[in-house]
Amino acid sequence: MSFEALGLHPSIVKAVAEAGYTAPTQVQEQAIPAAIGGRDLLVSSQTGSGKTAAFMLPALNKLAASESAPMGRTPAQEAQSARSRGERPRFRPAQPKMLVLTPTRELALQVTTATEQYTTFMRRIRTVSILGGMPYPKQMQLLARNPEILVATPGRLIDHMESGKIDFSQLEILVLDEADRMLDMGFIEDIEKIVAATPDTRQTMLFSATLDGVVGNMARRITRDPMVIQI
Ligand code: AMP
Repeated sequence: MSFEALGLHPSIVKAVAEAGYTAPTQVQEQAIPAAIGGRDLLVSSQTGSGKTAAFMLPALNKLAASESAPMGRTPAQEAQSARSRGERPRFRPAQPKMLVLTPTRELALQVTTATEQYTTFMRRIRTVSILGGMPYPKQMQLLARNPEILVATPGRLIDHMESGKIDFSQLEILVLDEADRMLDMGFIEDIEKIVAATPDTRQTMLFSATLDGVVGNMARRITRDPMVIQI
């Protein structure tokens, strides 16, 4: 099986080839075609199985499909043009199309780095990480670029959401990475709040070491007719 045969856009196939991936891993082989077909996913797999590409490649494929549509100016560009007309810039929240929630800063940074690698040949896909411990002014600056993809830890994301810096009404894809660890760390209320702020029409992909118990309950509440993949 090749990445091309899974139905991925040529610019994504080129990027994974450049990353040195010669064939999809088992989880990628199962998850990618289903996710491209629009299915929600519940995946039980371990770190090292290639799970990041299993959710990120089909997600990028979806974003690539709308990539050729003309995009509006970024909030930063709008602000600059308002200033040049002598007007006060109007504040506009970021409207990401994809959100990846992770339990830790380290994992968020790994996902961000992988995403940057996979988007090498795609234009106009910007990825920003929103992490606890990072200075707020720096994060506001990053959000002002109106990135398509946010990778975040739940606590800090809630802060920005509640202060009106992020609007999830345009969100198309939600990923919960290492969902069991996020619940172990006490993020359940934050996750529920974030999910409630996103459209019901979103595609949801949840990855977890286990799909039993509390995580299984939450997984079934936030997905629709999910394909269950156990590696
Ligand atoms: P992950 O499970 O997403 O943390 O990925 C583990 C490691 O496998 C990362 O270093 C990836 O870059 C790498 N990887 C992911 N998919 C493939 C693939 N199809 N072929 C070779 N390496 C891969």
